[in-house]
Amino acid sequence: MPEVYNWQLGRKMHFPYEEAHPKWQFAAVFNTNRCIGCQTCSMACKSTWTFSKGQEYMWWNNVETKPYGGYPQFWDVKLLKLLEEAHQREGTEATWDASRRDGGKSPYGVYQGMTIFEAALKRYGPEGHTRALGYLPADEEWRAPNLYEDTAPSYEGGPLGLSKEGVSLPEHKTWFFHLQRICNHCTYPACLAACPRKAIYKRPEDGIVLIDQERCRGYKKCVEGCPYKKPMFRSTTRVSEKCVACYPRIEGRDPHVTPDGVPIEARCMAACVGKIRLQGLVKIEEKTGDWAEDRRNPLYFLVKVERVALPLYPQFGTEPNIYYIPPRWVPRSYLRQMFGPGVDQAIEKYVAPSRELLAVLQLFRSAQKIIFRYEIIEGKKVFETEVAGKPWAMYNDTVIGFDRNGDEIVRLTVEEPVYVRPAKHLNSI
Ligand code: SF4
Ligand code: SF4
Repeated sequence: MPEVYNWQLGRKMHFPYEEAHPKWQFAAVFNTNRCIGCQTCSMACKSTWTFSKGQEYMWWNNVETKPYGGYPQFWDVKLLKLLEEAHQREGTEATWDASRRDGGKSPYGVYQGMTIFEAALKRYGPEGHTRALGYLPADEEWRAPNLYEDTAPSYEGGPLGLSKEGVSLPEHKTWFFHLQRICNHCTYPACLAACPRKAIYKRPEDGIVLIDQERCRGYKKCVEGCPYKKPMFRSTTRVSEKCVACYPRIEGRDPHVTPDGVPIEARCMAACVGKIRLQGLVKIEEKTGDWAEDRRNPLYFLVKVERVALPLYPQFGTEPNIYYIPPRWVPRSYLRQMFGPGVDQAIEKYVAPSRELLAVLQLFRSAQKIIFRYEIIEGKKVFETEVAGKPWAMYNDTVIGFDRNGDEIVRLTVEEPVYVRPAKHLNSI
């Protein structure tokens, strides 16, 4: 089986196909700390792509409440259990060697366990081994897209949630958070690896992963193989479907929004009420498949420079391209399992953001057009305090975003301007 380099794992890994890199990669950063669970993103996607017969349970974008929620139910718990059992059978452990952090090549250290591709090689069924360790959810697991909404683990302080000791930060004892989920348009997609018909492909121009509806025969191998459970089977057409990353928008083909033909954000991103999403395209190095250095691309800055945004379950091995700023008050052991060993550093950066990070965070959900580059104009100091015992200052800098053509599309200050409505218009809209 060919070997490919997975920078999120800091090592080479087995994958059924040779490395092939797109020119650009569809990617996004979601800030879990800001999500209010309103599901506007879910509805924006559904009303665009999955409103027809046979698509009733298809939520290409869903927002689930962790730790209990999941769509399909308990998808990640089930996958983690399968992976854990595979390690037990081999007498190994899924550990990370964080001491082997080495710049961009292995920013989180080196993963020493098995990925879903490697674990699959060890498991032989009646038809030989599968290409990716997975499972096929039963129909009832797709029934309730938002089961356990806003449900927190029980609180040690008793039924009224009152504790004599109070809460000791930085972790809350009772907690939940919203996890926004779409297809990760993975660098090494397990859906693509698992498809016996070669009906799934990754587009060379933007890394978007699509299912060819003509070639698909509905074997559901992609549903079984995707660890994130994002391909979904449609009973009326008997083929699988999945998130298409709103590719006509990425191609700039919506004349109503972009008469100048520049790429615009996907619907779930553009509709986000909480301003938690920033979507973009990152340039890929032809030879290595790594992100080409692009210091002023906001996604490159957040993921590669500040490392404040992390991949979801990197240990699965698909190199997902949706990144998350982890929720700051959630127990760290839970977060380390979910986002890998970069969690502590990411939260530290988020809690006391650098001057540049604070400015870049303003860009989330500020324009429909994709921001390819930003610039910052320094402003004056407006606030001083201490964070975790260290001095921290806030500056009213101005951040400017530019589209693919280099045209300015947004200009924001760190301090939001306040507009006072004149008394004579108090009740008018
Ligand atoms: S998230 Fe699943 S469906 Fe999407 S590209 Fe990755 S493996 Fe395929
Ligand atoms: S629209 Fe934004 S804030 Fe609302 S649930 Fe979706 S990601 Fe969260």
